[in-house]
Order: sequence, then C-alpha cells, then structure tokens
Amino acid sequence: MRYVVGLINKYDAGKFPKDLKEMGIGRVIQLASNENPYPPPEEVIEAVKKEVLWINRYPHPEYRDLKEKIAEYCKVDYGMISIGSGAMDILKVIADVLLEPFDKVVVPMPSYSYYTFVSMLRDAGVEEVIFEGYRVNVESLSGKLVFLCSPNNPTGNTVDEKTVRDACENFEYVVLDEAYAEFAGKSFVKLLDEYENLIILRTFSKYFGLAGMRVGYSLSNESIAEAIEKIRSPFAISPLAAKAAEVALDNLDYYERVRRKIVTLREKMRRELENYYYVYPSEANFLLFKHDRENLVDEFLKRGIILRDVTGLRGLEGNHVRVTVGREGEVEIFLEVLREIN
Ligand code: PMP
Repeated sequence: MRYVVGLINKYDAGKFPKDLKEMGIGRVIQLASNENPYPPPEEVIEAVKKEVLWINRYPHPEYRDLKEKIAEYCKVDYGMISIGSGAMDILKVIADVLLEPFDKVVVPMPSYSYYTFVSMLRDAGVEEVIFEGYRVNVESLSGKLVFLCSPNNPTGNTVDEKTVRDACENFEYVVLDEAYAEFAGKSFVKLLDEYENLIILRTFSKYFGLAGMRVGYSLSNESIAEAIEKIRSPFAISPLAAKAAEVALDNLDYYERVRRKIVTLREKMRRELENYYYVYPSEANFLLFKHDRENLVDEFLKRGIILRDVTGLRGLEGNHVRVTVGREGEVEIFLEVLREIN
C-alpha cells in the first residue's frame, strides 16, 4: 500500500452524525463539514423522485443536459465543462491527467489537504508553502502546478485577481478551487478567456446543498476538459444526482435567499466568537478561529455539536477549530454552548 494513504484521515475524519445518534447523544448538530444546512428546494426533491423511474437505464454519457445548464449558469462554452463525482473526484482525475513523478507541485498553506494527497499519489514533488492567514503571493514561485482555493478552506478568505494572474503566468497549470465561490459572490471564471492553463473547480456539495449526491465540475480550456472527461470513470455520477443538480440550477432565487440567511448567521457567530477567540476573516459558509483551550472540540462534542479540529494543519500555529454555519436554531444552540463553556 502506498505510504500517502495515512495522510488524509488526520483532518478529514469528521465525527459522523448518524454514529453519534447510535451512541445515545440525542441531539446532534453537524457543523464540521461545510455543508449547506438547509435542504434543496422541493422542486429538486420532486425531480429526483420522478427520475427514480428511469434508474434501470444508464445516464447520458456526457451528462449533456447538466452541462448545458452549467454552461448557461457559468457563462462558458459547453466544451469547457467536465463532470465528476464531487470536486474531490475531479481533483484526483486532474492529478492523473497532468502529473508525472517528480513534477513540482506548489500548495499554498494552510489549505485543503486533498491537494497534497492527490499529488503525492502521482509521486509528484509537493512543496507546501506557508502564507499566514492564506494571504498568498506566488510572484516568486513557479512549477508544474499550483493549487489555489478561493474562498480558502479552512481560513475562509478569497485570493485576489493578481494572485490568480501571477499563478497563471508562473506555473504550467493552475487549479483554482472555487468550491465555496457562490457564498463569496466572487469568481475568476472570466479569466478562463485569457489563460489556457487555468482549471476552475466547482461543486454542488456546498452552496447547492447536494453533498450527498456527489456532483462536481471543472471549467477549463477544451483540450484539458476533454482529457478529464476521457480519464474519469464512465457514468461517474448517477442520473439522480445529475437531475438534482440540473433542477438546482433552475432555482437560483431559492439559493440566493439561503445564501443571505447563511451570511447573516455567519456574522452573528463571528461577533460572539470574537468575544473569546481570534476569528479569521471569512467570505464562505464557515469560520476558522484560534483558541488556547485543551479540549474545546470535545467539550462541544459532549453536548452533541460536531466541529472540525484543524489543529496541526501546516500553516496554522496553535489550536484551531473550523465551524460551519448551521441553521438558525443550530446556531443558537452553538452560541449557548460557547457561552456556557467560556
Ligand atoms: N474543495 C474544497 C475546498 C472543499 O472544502 C471540498 C469539500 N470539503 C471539496 C473541494 C470537495 O467537495 P466535493 O463534495 O464536491 O467532493
């Protein structure tokens, strides 16, 4: 077995809500995985129920209807889109397509640990470069590939346009992960017209509330898109998942209302957290904070609230916790527990 397999679980082994219920903790509030706490609109649920009647059939091999909707939503050409089973799946396919052993890959840190993982699986030479608070500057860096994340997981801040441009000038390829872009209302899709080496990653797991469906996509020049489409598993996502994503894109007003609510709740959480801890600036649906407590995450867990302990992630000095914005009632309970244990 490859030695890199040990790398991933350290930060990604979230406590599972269902498991906690079985352990007898009655009320479980999952704030560890940056999902949208609100369900998708009724139209999505109804469309999936109808689609179930077709599950004896394979889906369209190219996911034509879904790509047409994404093309309209992102204002890109159809041929620039590749589909995958979540953005994680596409990250792995991109590494397979682009990387050879010993290629130099730069990963600005602290960021999403899966970038290093997929690169190491290809035996690339990974250089994790630390930027405090993920204030990235790649002016003096170069290599085969760089992974940028905007808004960044786990800090929550976005990168600026100059950073994306510098990356495109200095690196052979740039992967820009925009998994949380809708929450920030800021995307660099328009730079795809200028840079042939830019690949933008998106997902339906966060903003669109479809994490369990596993639908991600990438936007890039057509030859990279075609390579990703060829290398990915055939029929990578189920027809139910494709249908859910299509109908989600028909209901953008609903999601905008949900976004506003999440942003309001995020700022409420921020104000209270700042009474006790340093909180990083965030344009996403989660907050990162620094604390000096021994067992903060366990204190919350005992009370049924699952948070993500990101202590030890390269680029973070001291104890850090990431908390996802929950529903209104969940946020109230989180804040009550916060006050109680401080
Ligand atoms: N990129 C980032 C920055 C993420 O935080 C996540 C999910 N944790 C992903 C990609 C993967 O998302 P998906 O569910 O689409 O695989």
